[in-house]
Amino acid sequence: MTALLPYGRHSVTEDDVAAVVAALRSDWLTTGPQVDAFEADLAGWTGGVACAAVANGTAALHVAYAAAGIGPGDEVVVPPMTFAATASTAVALGARVVFADVEEETYTLDPAAVAAAVTSRTRVVSAVDYAGHPADHDALRGVLAGTGALLLADAAHSIGATYHGRPVGSLADLTTFSFFPTKNLTTAEGGAVAALDPALLARARRFRNHGLVRDRAEQRWPDEGGWHQEVHEFGLNYRLPDVLCALGRSQLRRLGDFLAARERLVRRYDEALADLPGVRRPGRRSWARPAWHLYPIRVLDGRRREVYDRMRAAGIGVQVNYIPAHWHPVFADLGYRRGSCPVAEGFYAEQLSLPLYPGLTEADQERVVDALGAALRASTARAAA
Ligand SMILES: *Cc1c(COP(=O)(O)O)cnc(C)c1O
Repeated sequence: MTALLPYGRHSVTEDDVAAVVAALRSDWLTTGPQVDAFEADLAGWTGGVACAAVANGTAALHVAYAAAGIGPGDEVVVPPMTFAATASTAVALGARVVFADVEEETYTLDPAAVAAAVTSRTRVVSAVDYAGHPADHDALRGVLAGTGALLLADAAHSIGATYHGRPVGSLADLTTFSFFPTKNLTTAEGGAVAALDPALLARARRFRNHGLVRDRAEQRWPDEGGWHQEVHEFGLNYRLPDVLCALGRSQLRRLGDFLAARERLVRRYDEALADLPGVRRPGRRSWARPAWHLYPIRVLDGRRREVYDRMRAAGIGVQVNYIPAHWHPVFADLGYRRGSCPVAEGFYAEQLSLPLYPGLTEADQERVVDALGAALRASTARAAA
């Protein structure tokens, strides 16, 4: 019995281990010099847009929404084809989430659906760069022009991707990253926020650290004493430790290699699946250079569930990304209805993520393609549910 091939997996080298060990031996465990250095290195991937490192990708979204000032009475537009955190962190601040459907080819937020969803209460529109393919950020900006709403990019899948040659991190007012082990680089747990407006980044940094105000010039009672710090707005502890920032810096040195490996694997999948009936390969716009976090295929003719089960039984760790976010019981209980986002829901019914990570070998990939072909041949067509 061969081991299960996961759908995603980190790549950690001896250099990464040495970077972590060196940080552990330093005078700092949490906030120290590696944090500033990691943030500076990250900005090398965002076109120079400044970043704040945080505890994870969910914290990055929470921090970004808090920096945008959202609260009760505000609306945040989110695509359903995402992990729950894109929506739940807005709800945590008291906002109402409005789901807008995705585009048929890339499964990223559809600007026309956003235009229909925006109201006078819309404060943030969150585009998810699904599978690492950038959303159509310029078109989304066009829709938001004059509304006062901010554009947020949930770039948990897309660090290093480009849009019309411009890097992710420089496209939206706020961009959030995740460094979870399955993502394109890892700090174990970790994330970051990039912000075009320095005032937004300052608010993000403050929320990350309990809302503490240490600058005397900004304090209400600056003559309290040398120890004094104040909270003006509530924040939380979402700091990313020095030890993990050291890992992030070491990982960032290989991000270009990771992206090249993912591109190479995607090309091989594209070729291997070109003539396989019953599957549709992921789409890609001419203006995008995706970061390929996922390789999401569509399994046609109602065969997805059976193909998933058969591939799992064959030791291939395929995954489904994602159940439409508004289908989660917590949203269903709030009155959100199935059928409201037909493109995302139709995609979900057929979606399957094949294993994709830099350490995947050509032999592994052949195993995946063979198992997919066998599962398709063995399964029966069913009418769509
Ligand atoms: C992974 C992910 C997140 C959350 O990131 P964590 O680091 O796991 O908290 C948010 N949005 C999307 C689209 C993700 O894939």
